[in-house]
Amino acid sequence: MKKIHILHSFWVLLLFNSCMTDRESENSFYLNQINRIQLISSKTIFFTENLQEDLNLTVSFFDRDNRPFLNNIDVPYVIYLGDSVIKKPKLDLARPGKYNLRVMFPTREHTFSNEVELEVVTGDYISELVLDFSTETRNEFTLANKEPYDFTLRAIGPNGEIPGVADQMLRNLNLKVGNTNATRLTNVVIDQLGLLEVQASVFGVNSNILKINSREDISYPIKEFQVVFHVFSNIYSPTTAQFENEINNANLAFGGGVRTSFRRNLNAVDTGFRFKLADKNPDGSLMETKGVNRIITDQVFQDAEDDELYILKFNSMWDPNQYINVFIEDLSSIDALGYAFLPFLTEPIVGGLVGNFPPETELFYPISITLDKKLFDGQVNLKDALSHEIGHYLGLRHTFQDCQTGDYCEDTPSHVRPSNPSIAWSNNRMNCSNAPFISTNFMDYVITWDNFTFDQKERMVKVYENALFMPKDFNAPDARLKPFMRGQLDPSIKPIICNF
Ligand SMILES: [Zn+2]
Repeated sequence: MKKIHILHSFWVLLLFNSCMTDRESENSFYLNQINRIQLISSKTIFFTENLQEDLNLTVSFFDRDNRPFLNNIDVPYVIYLGDSVIKKPKLDLARPGKYNLRVMFPTREHTFSNEVELEVVTGDYISELVLDFSTETRNEFTLANKEPYDFTLRAIGPNGEIPGVADQMLRNLNLKVGNTNATRLTNVVIDQLGLLEVQASVFGVNSNILKINSREDISYPIKEFQVVFHVFSNIYSPTTAQFENEINNANLAFGGGVRTSFRRNLNAVDTGFRFKLADKNPDGSLMETKGVNRIITDQVFQDAEDDELYILKFNSMWDPNQYINVFIEDLSSIDALGYAFLPFLTEPIVGGLVGNFPPETELFYPISITLDKKLFDGQVNLKDALSHEIGHYLGLRHTFQDCQTGDYCEDTPSHVRPSNPSIAWSNNRMNCSNAPFISTNFMDYVITWDNFTFDQKERMVKVYENALFMPKDFNAPDARLKPFMRGQLDPSIKPIICNF
């Protein structure tokens, strides 16, 4: 008997189902469960120029316990614009005005969502159009026909920034760059030279004007320095491969060959400077180990700025007209990973480097670079510390110098390094006008380094041409030269300390 009863129920259920369409079946399933419908539209302002504009709706259904309903999958609903049903989620209204939008689920009670007010407006609705550089390409200086710019555009209306209109603006955009026109905001290549004005316009409204100084890159003959690493015998001694690696990294950095996940800097250049490990001793004999000179000492210095240490370096350095001298030592006492003495100039040929030295004199400080042993013994991984220090050696200052004079290079945005250690190393920086930009310059302290800029190159070339006691081509007709004479050490001349 029991078996027959179960069979009977089964047939009743089958019969019930077969009388309904799929949709009706779904509706009846939802019928008693949908209690509330929430409608959100990410676009509420529509310009009359954009007919057939897609609505961007999010419709959510909730049950009687106010729980999201079945992940809101495939619940059929009807869209009402005012009292009319619209077939597709598109707006097709050329007349300015306000319109109410809601959706309805056809239950017996006809459950409606909240109303969303849409407004169809003309260009006059925009009170201000704000054009800006994107964070990654914020720079008023660029090199023509190299890296492209990205811009951002915001429309301001009576209630502040008008949300959800980016697509509509893009479809009606005219971006004037100098005397050329573009129809997009990203990947805009600057192909003219000179001071260019950039202005956007949409719906007859003009934006503010940005200025870009577009210049042509200049190449100079390659200048190659030989480098000697002086290693004190009482500290960790790096391997030959490590020194070769240092040189390779410096060549990549100064050759403009470093690529990172960041967008390439608009002013990144090949500086024309190159480096190699020295192969001859100052007396002309072949070096035992290429590029490496071991200084036998058991002196332990309390302070890396110790005068005694400067005396040792001053007396140990090789002819600075032939070599870049790099000392490897323990810098723990000053919490720095490197430092460099600035170049020897007899005239103030570039800002920030005082040329107050008597002309044509003997050398009186150890023009050299120092790197901490931690960069080699596995304690710190910072592959371009040498490139950073060579930057100082060639007269560059830190890009985060200050907000007044900065680093005397216009194409490196002036900024101040954040004091908060958790963000101090971030590539995300704020410039001195409080606008965000990405810094990947070798003369900042950041996680990722990848560029020297055009102005930094020009500065280094100028320093190179005017400095004394720097390796040069002695046959060049205009080279400023002075045979290396070790004078009296002046310990008051201090290097730039790099606390990275
Ligand atoms: Zn530094």
